[in-house]
Amino acid sequence: MTAAAATVTIAERVPATMRALLKDHAGPGLRLCEVSTPTPADGEVLVRVLRTGVCGTDLHIHRWDTWAARTIRPPLIPGHEFVGEVVAAAAGTGGLRIGQTVSAEGHLVCGNCRHCRHAERHLCPRTRGLGILRDGVFADYAVLPATAIWQHRPGVDLDTAVLFDPFGNAVHAAHTFPLRGKVVAITGAGPIGLMTIPVARYLGAHAVVVVEPSPHRRRLAQRQGATITCPGSADLARALRDLDRLDGFDVGMEMSGHPEALTELLAHMSCGGRVVVLGLPDRPVPTDWADISTRMLTVQGVSGRRIFDTWHQVSALLDAGIRPAAVVTHHFAAADHVEAFEVATSTTAGKVILVWTSERDAGYRA
Ligand SMILES: [Zn+2]
Ligand SMILES: [Zn+2]
Repeated sequence: MTAAAATVTIAERVPATMRALLKDHAGPGLRLCEVSTPTPADGEVLVRVLRTGVCGTDLHIHRWDTWAARTIRPPLIPGHEFVGEVVAAAAGTGGLRIGQTVSAEGHLVCGNCRHCRHAERHLCPRTRGLGILRDGVFADYAVLPATAIWQHRPGVDLDTAVLFDPFGNAVHAAHTFPLRGKVVAITGAGPIGLMTIPVARYLGAHAVVVVEPSPHRRRLAQRQGATITCPGSADLARALRDLDRLDGFDVGMEMSGHPEALTELLAHMSCGGRVVVLGLPDRPVPTDWADISTRMLTVQGVSGRRIFDTWHQVSALLDAGIRPAAVVTHHFAAADHVEAFEVATSTTAGKVILVWTSERDAGYRA
């Protein structure tokens, strides 16, 4: 940042109103509106948003499915994946400076429950989702608790920085069980599934089989280092034959949210196999618990990131040469949000990024 930016005050630099991509009614769609710029309370910072990622959660909110109708109370500014710069810091935000490039942990935890007090904040039962239960980052500015802020290194690539949240999901999932020498199946090659592939390879997986119906995403999965890609979970048996591992997969990662994918994945695990469930099915999935018991399978739910262990692991993996930004396929100006959400909903996209301002406007790398 420039020295000049460090002296900026709210009054000089932050306009009274801002653009926000608002869920303004209980129904499908989002509307780009002019709203009041929020003011940070004690312990909060105001961030100027540079780029935001469109996540599956945002697509649920956008199309207003049963989960969204049950969970979201309009008016709400959705969005939780972002990179921005701190433009104002209230009292009690020590250590954060004006001009710093930041993202934030979108799972805002209570700080007082036994898990929070035991440094297991990812298990907080009172977690509030940024852009779900409080206003998020699809706006020119956003207010965030300082305790949730992740400070990027100076000069960080913006498409990499905006991915810390979903890449963190992938990294958390991939570190759940040891992968060295293991035959791994991933069902679903959305952005998180895609970003999991190189991490699994880096962690020593012997083979990574990816199930994904979209040919575009299968191609992306191959580029990410998948050993075998197949269109349906019914093809898992063939993939095992090709790998000469007929007894099943050692580790499975369900990242599609499709009930059939979870059922098929469980059916193709080896005895003693371990399954990470990250995808969110939109209805209960019947499970043969006798089969889980007799084949001694382990099923582990994974949500979000370990706070902030996973964020440090993300940094280390970037240093090791893993490039999650390879899954970014589209950039749209925030004003073109209708098209951006259309593309993000299609199966032709990897990660879709909304650009809220240019680096030069933000003084970034000035
Ligand atoms: Zn997300
Ligand atoms: Zn808590």
